[in-house]
Amino acid sequence: MTQKMTPSTKSDCIFCKIVAGEIPSPRVHESEDFIVIRDIQPQAKKHLLVIPKKHVANLLEVPTSEAPGIHAGLLATAVAAAKLEGMDSQGFRTVINTRDWGGQTVHHLHLHVLGGEPLAGRFA
Ligand code: AMP
Ligand code: ZN
Repeated sequence: MTQKMTPSTKSDCIFCKIVAGEIPSPRVHESEDFIVIRDIQPQAKKHLLVIPKKHVANLLEVPTSEAPGIHAGLLATAVAAAKLEGMDSQGFRTVINTRDWGGQTVHHLHLHVLGGEPLAGRFA
């Protein structure tokens, strides 16, 4: 990643705890700025979460100066993880839920990668 992210964690955030290793969660993939884990309640045969190591609550809270790095990093990491998991040949779905009406339950930005089987409906 060309643009360095400012480190940031939040003490009561479950994904910050996973990033810090305080809550165990095996990493499917990891880069300098992102981790990829398996969702604890999978909504498809394969359900990954791409999580920035820096705490950012949601898409609306991404600092403008860091947006290019975070946005590109989320998608590039999702593609890398999808390939690692063999989801590239048949396809997969990516979803970002934002705030309550978007269905966000963990308020640390993350991108869902769903696949491993044909997915019902057009959205999760
Ligand atoms: P969202 O509803 O978009 O905020 O997604 C949050 C996701 O995080 C849900 O799909 C949860 O199942 C998942 N989740 C919550 N806690 C954990 C955990 N400890 N490890 C892995 N996934 C989790
Ligand atoms: Zn966090």
